[in-house]
Amino acid sequence: MQYAVGMSITEAKGTALPAVVDAGAVTEFTDDVDVLVVGFGIAGGCAAVDAARAGARVLVLERGADAGGTTRMAGGHFYLGGGTAVQQATGHEDSAQEMEKYLTAVSPDPEPAKIHAYCVDSVEHFNWLEALGLNFERSYFPGKAVIQPNTEGLMFTGNEKVWPFKDMATPAPRGHKVPKPGDTGGASMVIDLLQTELERLGVEVRYETGARNLVVDADRVVGVRWKTTDGEGYIRAGSVIIAAGGFVMNPEMVAEHVPQMAEKPFVLGSTYDDGLGIRMGASVGAALKHMDSAFVTAPVYPPSILLTGIIVNKDGKRFVTEDSYHSRTSGFVMDQPDSAAFLIVDEAHLQRPEMPLAPFIDGWETVEEMEQDLGIPAGNLVATLSRYNEYAAKGEDPDFHKGVEFLAAQDTGPWAAFDMSLGKAVYAGFTIGGMATSVDGEVLDVAGAAIPGLYAAGACAANLAQDGKGYASGTQLGEGSYFGRRAGRHAAAARAAVNG
Ligand SMILES: Cc1cc2nc3c(=O)[nH]c(=O)nc-3n(C[C@H](O)[C@H](O)[C@H](O)COP(=O)(O)OP(=O)(O)OC[C@H]3O[C@@H](n4cnc5c(N)ncnc54)[C@H](O)[C@@H]3O)c2cc1C
Repeated sequence: MQYAVGMSITEAKGTALPAVVDAGAVTEFTDDVDVLVVGFGIAGGCAAVDAARAGARVLVLERGADAGGTTRMAGGHFYLGGGTAVQQATGHEDSAQEMEKYLTAVSPDPEPAKIHAYCVDSVEHFNWLEALGLNFERSYFPGKAVIQPNTEGLMFTGNEKVWPFKDMATPAPRGHKVPKPGDTGGASMVIDLLQTELERLGVEVRYETGARNLVVDADRVVGVRWKTTDGEGYIRAGSVIIAAGGFVMNPEMVAEHVPQMAEKPFVLGSTYDDGLGIRMGASVGAALKHMDSAFVTAPVYPPSILLTGIIVNKDGKRFVTEDSYHSRTSGFVMDQPDSAAFLIVDEAHLQRPEMPLAPFIDGWETVEEMEQDLGIPAGNLVATLSRYNEYAAKGEDPDFHKGVEFLAAQDTGPWAAFDMSLGKAVYAGFTIGGMATSVDGEVLDVAGAAIPGLYAAGACAANLAQDGKGYASGTQLGEGSYFGRRAGRHAAAARAAVNG
């Protein structure tokens, strides 16, 4: 492949692809390393650690003044299983096979080699994280929540107990949380540990230095052009690992790929989630996958008693099993006419949501009045609710197979409605798509061939997370760290082979 040569460099903004630089035209390289890691979040940090441990000369470029990117914002769930020490200590049986069945079932476009590797290596990866200094508490939170309320090490964070998946793989809790309470910021401790380890390994992290363009020699990526506030230059590298995060903070890319996210949802990300890493990959022919997918959510639980109610669209029809993981429910809301939906509960099951993201609309003495005020065609909601109530009273849900613990007839008026509609509820989210990669993080072109010298990991790569409906909390940190490590080791081995 012959790349366009661009030595008159203008910075690529919006959806523009950065120019590709021909190595032959570069007069001086500031550095020459085996493995150059672009971005120090969970993926880049883990890639750098395993590349350095494998003996490679590693340099990390980080655009921010500190490491961590979006990872520092994360609550700190890692999706791990197959019999981790926390699962064992809390009496939860799991196996790599059941985990693999589950992850395959929730993926719209499963990549079997990646899912298999992730599951069979999950215990080893858990141990690797603990050896880094992360001590997951040997405790379990049994409730249904968005995140553990305290420092409990384990809970269900996906749709393992939710139909149809509960019939496809034996459910096990796999949401391992770092020992720091709170919805956000917990994963910061992982970044601190990675910084300490990189220092111990003698790996330089160059802050406030952004990679801007890839440098190629014929069909091989051999380095980057970098830029700081007061300088620029070129680095030569045996391999470049792009771990530069997603694109939720780039409005043009979001509008092009995920229009539903462009206006109403609140974007969850850090400043440099502008998709530059993805565009750098695309500039040398990387195939991009799942670019139209997003994790978008507005959880209506906790308290989980609210899930005993029903969720209906503006036709008064149910469309999702209400005990789904919150981003699965939200994904189905997005598919409804006008992305409109209501959560309906009776007085006996009404409690105040802990996070008031879906606004309370009102209460009504009769279901007939409620459906009229909500603009639902006459009779539809009455019919839906009475069918639900009839079966719920028997502990059954023939339509959506909701878990028995969430089945309760909503037959004690008055009835309340919460607005889950896009534009009314406070939805927030991040993008999911990125560069196509092999199981070892090699970036693939549209024909499926590895682009020599180029790797990607984390939110700029397409791996296990494929859409919000199948997402489980912990997938991003889990896959970013695991596939980051694989990319680091593969890049180090490739360089060792070249060096003899
Ligand atoms: C509020 C919140 C909570 C979340 N909670 C969880 C959770 O509990 N579990 C989970 O699995 N996921 C969670 N996520 C998602 C998860 O945090 C991210 O998907 C993940 O951290 C991405 O990691 P990364 O290494 O790919 O990117 P980042 O952590 O964003 O790191 C990328 C780094 O690259 C740098 N960079 C960008 N461009 C360049 C460049 N050109 N040159 C050099 N450096 C560059 C950035 O500055 C950044 O430091 C959460 C997200 C949010 C917003």
